Order: sequence, then C-alpha cells, then structure tokens
Amino acid sequence: MKSDLVIVYHRQPYEEVEVDGRIEYREHSSPNGIVPTLKGFFGKVSRGAWVAWKLAEDTSNPGFDPVIEISDSFGTYSVSRLPLTEEQVRSFYHVTSKEAFWPVLHGFKERYNYDPVDWPTFRSVNWAFAEAAAEQATDDAIIWVHDYNLWLVPGYLRQLKPDATICFFHHTPFPGPDMFNVLPWREEIVESLLQCDSVGFHIPRYAQNFAAVARSVRAARVVEDMESPDALVQRGVALNDRIMPLRLDHKGRQVAIHTSPVGVNFDHVEALAQTDEVTEKIGAIRRELSDCKLVLSVSRTDYTKGNIEQLEAFERLLERRPELRGKVRLMLVSVEANRNMTAYQEIQARIEELTGRINGAYGSFEWQPVALIGKGIPLADLVAYYAAADVASITPLADGLNLVASEFCAARREADPGALILSEFAGCAVLLEGAIPVNPFSHASMDSALDQALGMDHDEATGRMKALRASARRWDISTWTRTEMSHFSALRRARVSGA
Ligand code: UDP
Repeated sequence: MKSDLVIVYHRQPYEEVEVDGRIEYREHSSPNGIVPTLKGFFGKVSRGAWVAWKLAEDTSNPGFDPVIEISDSFGTYSVSRLPLTEEQVRSFYHVTSKEAFWPVLHGFKERYNYDPVDWPTFRSVNWAFAEAAAEQATDDAIIWVHDYNLWLVPGYLRQLKPDATICFFHHTPFPGPDMFNVLPWREEIVESLLQCDSVGFHIPRYAQNFAAVARSVRAARVVEDMESPDALVQRGVALNDRIMPLRLDHKGRQVAIHTSPVGVNFDHVEALAQTDEVTEKIGAIRRELSDCKLVLSVSRTDYTKGNIEQLEAFERLLERRPELRGKVRLMLVSVEANRNMTAYQEIQARIEELTGRINGAYGSFEWQPVALIGKGIPLADLVAYYAAADVASITPLADGLNLVASEFCAARREADPGALILSEFAGCAVLLEGAIPVNPFSHASMDSALDQALGMDHDEATGRMKALRASARRWDISTWTRTEMSHFSALRRARVSGA
C-alpha cells in the first residue's frame, strides 16, 4: 500500500532489540528528539512511510524483509530499510557527510577534508534512497527528505516521479557562498535542492544564505524577498501566517524557501521535571552541592560545540576570581561520539587534558571544580540537572538550533530564577528571549557572561527565566508541527490550482 507522506531520514524510526533470538522494534523511550517528532506526522495523514538505511550484515538472514510494517503509538506505517555495506556507510556518512559537508556547513573551512570523498558512492546511496521513497509514494504524496547527507535525493526523485511534491528540511546551519562554494559538487547539490517544491531551515539567516548560494551557483532568482530576520522573529507566531517568506525561481520552477525551528517537546520536559522521581533527584543534587553553584553544559563531543572554549573560560574564572574557588562547579556533559574519527578523538583528548589540568590546579579533597561526563545521560536524569543548575552555559561555535538550551528552560519551575548563557552562533539565539548572549570566539565575552550569570540578582534571574520559558514554549515542537502541516496544505493547494 502506498503512502501520502514519505519521510526520508537516514536513521531507522525505532530501536531494535533482540528478545529470545527475535528482533523486536521498540519505540524510543523519549518523545523528545527528531525521530519521534517526525513520526508524530504519521498521525496526521492517512498513511505514512519511512525510508532509512540498515547495515547489510544485519540483513543477511534469509527472512529479512526490506519493507516492514510497524504499529506503535504513532499509528501503522511502513519502513523501507536500504541494506548498505559497512564500506558504503563509511563513505557516504562518515567521510562525505561528516568530514566534507559537516565542517563546511558549520564554517570550519580548515577542517574540511575533500580528498577521501568517493562521490560515486555518495550518488549511488542517495539514488537508492530516492528509489525506495518513490516506490512508497502515492501520486500526490508529500515526499519529505531530511538533512545534508541526502542532498541529492530531491534531484533523483524529480527524475523518478516528476509530479511529486518534494520537500527538504535542513537541520544544520547553512552557510553563505564564501563558505559553501568550496564544495566541488556545489552545482550538483544546489541543482538537486532546486528540484524541491520547498526547502526548509530553522531560522531566516540560513534561508537567506541558501538563497545567496542558489543565486551564485545556479543563477536562481529571488521572486519574493524576505523580511529581515529581526522583523520575522519579532512577529513571533505571526510567522506561521506567512509560510512562504521567500521564493526562488529556477528555470521557471518556483521553490518555496521557508523557516520554522524544530523545537523541543516542552510539555513533556516540563512534566518530567515535576515527577516525584526527578524532584527527589533534584533535591539530592542540591544537597550534594550545598552552597556551591552549578554551571551546566551539555552537548555531544564535537569541534562545533565549543567545549574547549567553555573549559578555558571556566579555568580563567577560577584564576581571575579566587573567591569563587570551592564555590562553583562546572558539570560538562560531553557525550563521546564517533570514536573512530580523528577529528573527534582530538577534541576528546583536549577536553580530558583541560579537565585534568583544572582539577589538578584547583581541586581539593572536598571540591572537584569540573565534573566531566562522557556517556549520554537519560533524559530524566538530564532534566534533574537542568532543574538543579544555577546556570546553563551553551556556547557552540556553530549549531543549527540547539535543543539543550530550550530543554533547560522547559525543565525549570515557573517562579525559579536561572541564567542561560547562550552563544549567538546557536540557531535558537534568535528565538530565546532573556538569555545572556555570548561570543564564544572572544575571551572577554565569555568571561563577562560567566560573571554576569553568577552575579545575577534573584529578581533579574527570575524575570529572565520567565521570558526564556515563554519563548521556548512559543517555539516548541507543536509550533513546528503546525507550521509544517499548514505548509504542506499550502503546497497541495498550489498544486491543485496549478500555481
Ligand atoms: N542528550 C541526552 N543525553 C545526554 C546529552 C544530550 O539525551 O547526555 C540529548 C539532549 O536532551 C538533546 C539532544 O541530546 O535533546 C541534543 O540535541 P541538540 O540539538 O542540543 O544537539 P545535537 O547533538 O543534535 O547537535
């Protein structure tokens, strides 16, 4: 049976668990995050499908069926699993996406590694995703492709299904031409994206950058110009009324460029923070801290996330302000990822070295200045730390949106004070009101942000937290879902009317 919404996202939409030699497909335990968010759309259409990859080794048993039917709390939907070999995954994902595209998308030209890219493999994997998606789609389906590792899928889909409604959503930043155009495959990528009916981004700055790239690489013409990002943000929810703020014309084809940030499940995080279990944990954390202040930083280990800058700023704080020694702790959750990639190994080693240096220089038997956590923490525990912390410090050098900042706001009690130090290079900086903005490339800015957060009086911290919570709630996941659904309806209407 064909589907009217086909989601093309590289990860599978469930966790596989082996029980008594049989594979069971279980929902992710948290409704927060991109997979459950996307699955939420299946409840809003008559039938949904998902296309992901699966390691070919796992599919070698004779009973393996590439297309399976899943029934869970999101409804019944089909999942197409593309069997990729380990070498295909390494080439398409770890090398091309993570070593060539990722640094460019985040503005790290010097980390961009072009030599090992095997472009024919990238093409063939994207082609396989397009074929599987085309197979699942009804004639008037929306086919919704996610993220840069599937950049070529829209172009292939347009060949396979010329009349399909093809949408693409970028979950990362998108840079301007000076950065993006270092990619030698820029024409092919942009040409593919211009085959979409709609290309979506978290915030207006990325959309404007894409428009500039499309103009420079493919001479795409802007048909309707966008308001300034400030004006758009100031209009808040009214943004939903104007779902196509920018259109590009490419050889007579119109492509809607729209912005809508993928927020967090605010209600879920807020409710979690108020359960008995989490409340008890918050109490235990506070008791252990005694009169010590807690600065919390949470991210994956990645050179984009600013963990080194964070540790260096904390080291300077203890150096600059001896009166704070023994009175403040940094909890740095830096979840190790991609252990086999050199770039991440280097960062991990530097984080461990700096942590050791700070603890060695300033720590005592009673007080360890930095607690470094390298393993992922379950959301319920994380929420307890969000609620117990005095300051959250989120200082990426570049970040598409950043969910942690909004989760921190959602986990706080309504009347509690709290300070959020937020990098101006995190996408959510244009959405969250009340944060202390910081430029992580500047020592002076990082130092004064820490001083301001730690010295903030109760009334100011309460007022700021109230504003932060209100904006995180305004831009939560239900806003994104509503915006995307109304965008799909507008695309369908435009199709029916032949516009
Ligand atoms: N996260 C988690 N446990 C951890 C650290 C992070 O569950 O120990 C989750 C966090 O709650 C958030 C996500 O990982 O939902 C990170 O999302 P974000 O957008 O901040 O960064 P990304 O890793 O997607 O770049």
